[in-house]
Amino acid sequence: MIVVMQPGSSRAQIDAVVGRVQELGLEAHLSTGEERTIIGVVGTTPLPPTLDEMLEVFGGVEQVLRVTKKYKLSGWDFHPEKTRIPVLDFVIGGDEVVVIAGPCSVESEEQTIRTARAVRAAGARILRGGAYKPRTSPYEFRGLGKSGLEILANARAETGLAIITEVMTPADVAHVYDYTDIFQIGARNCQNYNLLEEVGRAGKPVMLKRGMSMMIEEWLLAAEYVLAQNNPHVIFCERGIRTFETQTRNTFDIAAVPVVQKLSHLPIFVDPSHAAGKRPFVGPLALAGVAAGADGLMIEVHPAPDQALSDGNQSLDFAEFEDLMPRLATVASAVGRNVLTGAPASV
Ligand code: PEP
Ligand code: MN
Repeated sequence: MIVVMQPGSSRAQIDAVVGRVQELGLEAHLSTGEERTIIGVVGTTPLPPTLDEMLEVFGGVEQVLRVTKKYKLSGWDFHPEKTRIPVLDFVIGGDEVVVIAGPCSVESEEQTIRTARAVRAAGARILRGGAYKPRTSPYEFRGLGKSGLEILANARAETGLAIITEVMTPADVAHVYDYTDIFQIGARNCQNYNLLEEVGRAGKPVMLKRGMSMMIEEWLLAAEYVLAQNNPHVIFCERGIRTFETQTRNTFDIAAVPVVQKLSHLPIFVDPSHAAGKRPFVGPLALAGVAAGADGLMIEVHPAPDQALSDGNQSLDFAEFEDLMPRLATVASAVGRNVLTGAPASV
């Protein structure tokens, strides 16, 4: 249910509605827009049948509406303005397309810093790199763990790039928090609800990759777990889904971009690397993501892809990434947007 307050309603009027909602054992989530405040009401049990009539008569209330969609906090009804997520000196979900680039895995200090410098020079603003790697086989490289996080911290200090790295278990959230600007939740963990609640409580932005066989409604509901912990900063990332097709690693569901944007106020990125699985396809899919209106991209880049410890086949080398960036900008301008580039403010 949403309680739409009149423009100019007072803080005391808003607090009175919130207070009543809480007294009933329900949760109130505020969305404060430029014009008016909307109070989203959710509960784990069905809402009382007369709740709308009860709240309608409170001072400052314009109208009370029942929301029948399963996902609530991630939908436009509860939050009629697009979510903009501040990260260091820029914004995700704003006017500019933000590029995340870096290796699949942090392998060494040298590999990570070299990559950070190269992607920064080409215009990326966020460095990716896994220290905890969810691998399909337990016999593959599973990441450097804590020392990988230290390397990311050094790369951040050296380049001023923001950091995104994956967290796989609730127990790791507290220490990954100290090193990352954005938590990455991987495709294999995106319905690990305890983990989603833990990153929700941690309070930093969360990138939620789409599960391999996940329907969009399930994805929005997964985001709901983070949002319900009063963490409003969730970013979706379409990374391809599993279909019968084997020419690509996954099938890039480009439609997810406009569909998610129709259903949700949260930003959506695309990851052409995990969708393609093969280097020559990464660029075209990245361009398609920008054309479709994605808020950003996540691209795997490695100094020597053939020697990478994970996902080398789909990683671009520095020259390929440098070549791609201006082409992304050309497509962005064709659809009335631009790609955020330029050096980070801090370095
Ligand atoms: C990754 O980003 O390296 C990764 C493991 O991606 P996904 O969770 O989408 O498979
Ligand atoms: Mn990878």
